[in-house]
Amino acid sequence: MSEGRLRHILSISGGKDSAALAIYMRDKVPEMEYVFCDTEKELSETYEYLARIEAFLGKSITVLKHDGRGFDHWLNVFGGYLPASNMRWCTKYLKLKPFEKYVGEAPVISYVGIRADEDREGYISKKPNIKAVYPFKEDGLCYHDIERILEETGIGMPGYRKWRSRSGCYFCFFQQKIEWVGLLEHHPELFRLASGYEKTDQATGRRFTWCDNESLEELSRPERVAAIKAEYGARTARSVGTGSRLCDLLQDQEESSPCLVCTL
Ligand code: SF4
Repeated sequence: MSEGRLRHILSISGGKDSAALAIYMRDKVPEMEYVFCDTEKELSETYEYLARIEAFLGKSITVLKHDGRGFDHWLNVFGGYLPASNMRWCTKYLKLKPFEKYVGEAPVISYVGIRADEDREGYISKKPNIKAVYPFKEDGLCYHDIERILEETGIGMPGYRKWRSRSGCYFCFFQQKIEWVGLLEHHPELFRLASGYEKTDQATGRRFTWCDNESLEELSRPERVAAIKAEYGARTARSVGTGSRLCDLLQDQEESSPCLVCTL
């Protein structure tokens, strides 16, 4: 590690796990710095959740933003190619770089909310002065412990959990189809904005869409919405039939996302 005062930083994503970790660490590391990397494409529920967490911590969460070159700038740089799981420039420029700039060169311990019942690695900073630690893993805390921490402190789950499994940008390409339907129904104006990013290259006919095989305009048609809801309902019923709970379904969906800096 490089020279300098050791800092302790916990990056809050707007998701339940980093929220629970902030609560868990509050009295263990009083000098903790709490940060949130704001892409300026976040859901209103995320800001509302951050305010709740801040009130409990009794400490401000420092909001980190890009250097003036936001999503639209980078979309242009990348020739209109929307970010995707194999081309996640959004995470790099809107989440990781602002975090690394804030961290600077001093040695830092970065607290990450991966739980003991998870076996995943994520896309987190690889700067040599940043050492990641995993208190939930070290202390054996699982999903139900996180639920309990959030319930006991009155913070609860983020508001978007009624219709979406994870935090992050309103147009995040990791969303399931049912979550796009949720966006359409809960934030129609954001759905329209997301749809506005989709384009067809007139020269080649190539489509730039958030989902693999359909545009948001197609997805929003009443018959598609009904079909997506029916398919999701059947999946949920099957999962209940096998003894899984709805939160297990959501949990499975979360674990398919490798974007820890956005969603933990
Ligand atoms: S939440 Fe999704 S769209 Fe936003 S920066 Fe992360 S991966 Fe990209």
